[in-house]
Amino acid sequence: MSSLPVLVLNSGSSSIKFSVYEASDGRRNRLFEGAVDGIGTDRGAFWIKDASGQKLIDQSPALPNRAVAFQLVADALHAGQYPLPVAIGHRMVSGGPTIQQNQRITSELIDEMESYTAFAPLHTPIAVYIMREALRLFPGVPNFVCLDTYFHRTMPEEAWHMPIPDEYSAIGVRRYGYHGLSYESIVYQLGAETPSRLIVAHLGNGASITAIRDGKCIDTSMGLTPTGGIISGTRTGDIDPGVLLFVLRRMAAEIPNTADAADKLEVFASKKAGLLGVSGLTNDMRGLRDAIAQGNPRARLAVTLFTRTIAKWIGSFMAVLGGLDMLVFTGGIGENDIASRAEICAGLAPLGIVLDPARNNTRGAAVISAANSPVIIRVIPPLEDLMIVNHVVRLLGEQSRT
Ligand code: AMP
Repeated sequence: MSSLPVLVLNSGSSSIKFSVYEASDGRRNRLFEGAVDGIGTDRGAFWIKDASGQKLIDQSPALPNRAVAFQLVADALHAGQYPLPVAIGHRMVSGGPTIQQNQRITSELIDEMESYTAFAPLHTPIAVYIMREALRLFPGVPNFVCLDTYFHRTMPEEAWHMPIPDEYSAIGVRRYGYHGLSYESIVYQLGAETPSRLIVAHLGNGASITAIRDGKCIDTSMGLTPTGGIISGTRTGDIDPGVLLFVLRRMAAEIPNTADAADKLEVFASKKAGLLGVSGLTNDMRGLRDAIAQGNPRARLAVTLFTRTIAKWIGSFMAVLGGLDMLVFTGGIGENDIASRAEICAGLAPLGIVLDPARNNTRGAAVISAANSPVIIRVIPPLEDLMIVNHVVRLLGEQSRT
């Protein structure tokens, strides 16, 4: 196989991240990566850096909307300085109930995914916009969708079936699970060291936990949408449904329209809750740690809710797995927040999860369990873009054989 430049696009609510890999037989070299960030704010940023980390572009442009932002990316990629992609891989949080396989993107597929916006309302609108633009701005280049739900397709029905009336199960209301590309990349990196019973905690601004048996997902914390599961930056995580009913009834007097009420509930549960809601300060763990150091009790409570919830999920997934061989921390908090890892593991020693405080005092990939810990504890950064490149190369190969 000759060397193929593959563009990876990963959009968030206010950012578009991208990278270009050179893929050849079994080899994947990241040529460069970049991002437009702060879309819709007055803190727009656009940068590209090469494989050695050297900034090739570092600008603070006005980014009033995603159209301006993506045009910047497309213009930079067409400027002749970088190899033009022969294929594009898009990270997609949710494809809805009917799209569970990674595949080539067509206009019809985009329309279908867009019709399932309710399954990931914060992520889908920008992702489908970028897909349409990529088809337009890179004519003739095949585009592929890589789903964050894909890794979770191996869950048994008792893990994904929700305890709700069947008429809703029948239209796709179920647990899908997210962060799948991150989980897949942890199993990929562990390779032959992947143990039979593995729990991975992806702790970033969004946070989730997955139970993995023999390399395959058997349960995960996020549900129908990424709002479910553990408390995260601005999301409630799992919560008594009575809380949502309580809030809805309070809204009913001012908002007679159900769709508007749902939008307000969405803001309540997904944007104003979690670490931000409890602390009243920030959703950012670094800011919370600074506030805790200054004695802020609400920041302390928010982080304690976070670490305690994660410890509870680890315990329940140990029950599902029938024990545990390895616990892996990943994501911005999992990789960098030494105190969160220590606080999560503090009560888990009776379950065989024994952290070594000195080994834990590090950022980035490491083994952090004590030498006598029955469970190995590791920190492994995710390689989501690399997983997308692998899927794109596989799908390109399948396409050329058909
Ligand atoms: P992610 O969504 O994976 O980019 O992770 C974002 C989260 O990681 C934010 O809450 C950050 O505050 C947190 N984070 C990133 N770097 C650090 C660090 N050095 N120490 C503590 N938390 C960090």
